[in-house]
Amino acid sequence: MKSNKLEKYEKKEKLGEGTYGIVYKALDRNTNEYVALKKIRLESEEEGIPSTAIREISLLKELNHPNIVKLMEVVHSNKKLVLVFEYVEMDLKKFFAQFPKEKGMEPVIVKSFLYQLLRGIQACHQQKILHRDLKPQNLLVSKDGILKLADFGLARASGIPVKSFTHEVVTLWYRPPDVLLGSKNYNTSIDIWSVGCIFAEMSNLKPLFAGSNETDQLKKIFRVLGTPTPIEYPKLNDLPSWKPENFEQYQPDNLAKFCPRLDPDGLDLLIKMLKINPDQRITAKAACDHPFFKELPEQVKKLYVNVK
Ligand code: ADP
Ligand code: MG
Repeated sequence: MKSNKLEKYEKKEKLGEGTYGIVYKALDRNTNEYVALKKIRLESEEEGIPSTAIREISLLKELNHPNIVKLMEVVHSNKKLVLVFEYVEMDLKKFFAQFPKEKGMEPVIVKSFLYQLLRGIQACHQQKILHRDLKPQNLLVSKDGILKLADFGLARASGIPVKSFTHEVVTLWYRPPDVLLGSKNYNTSIDIWSVGCIFAEMSNLKPLFAGSNETDQLKKIFRVLGTPTPIEYPKLNDLPSWKPENFEQYQPDNLAKFCPRLDPDGLDLLIKMLKINPDQRITAKAACDHPFFKELPEQVKKLYVNVK
């Protein structure tokens, strides 16, 4: 049985080129529906892919949630790995570009997207899957306003020898301070920090902490949230790159100054996501129950009628 499973796809334009592969739009000739083909670059063509990794990736096909981009097929042939996803019209970064910076997006869109993002993340965390690279380019938005998580650390997580583009600068803007300081034992709290940064960015249409390197990134965070001390963050002294002498002692500033369009409930939720101490960060589940979401558009609520 050596049929080429990719033959049924008619390749269209390139949608994106990220860290680990190229994504093409394609037409499934059998169903007449569009898909996104993600070709994963492998470190060495000869090496092949461990079957355990294929199995692990294939498990993601079982992840069925309205806020997670559907992985339809995993094609592994001729030492190539191609993931076939449902096609979604836009990513959040492109979506932002439609709105004038001075006016921002309507608050109801911010609320709806944040809720959907949290529901998607909650579903991952429930399955013990971390995303680890949440950012606007990795969130897709359909034409009817449905937000879906994409670009899981698929390859990275399953130990596939992927080849990364050297020219690609990995963005630090959504990375939590504990990870920037070298923590390796992060957990679901890593994604919550990123969600907080994206929440602020949706509200401001501007990244909250846009550092140019790791030290600058930490400085930008500490300037707003205050430089941490072992009193509120006891594990601080165990972090590999933490050197108190490297950072000025900033006092916490008022976050409202940096997110002027957020109402008090929104600010309260944001503060709970942006805790420097990861153990204090709110969980996705608790965040979904926050008063900020006491009113949601009907269309959003309808998404979850069949979700456990
Ligand atoms: P990378 O690991 O290379 O960043 P991504 O999965 O994030 O790969 O894809 C790169 C870009 O391609 C995304 O930022 C998005 O613009 C586009 N893209 C990815 N998946 C889809 C999809 N299912 N439908 C439409 N566009 C997509
Ligand atoms: Mg990406």
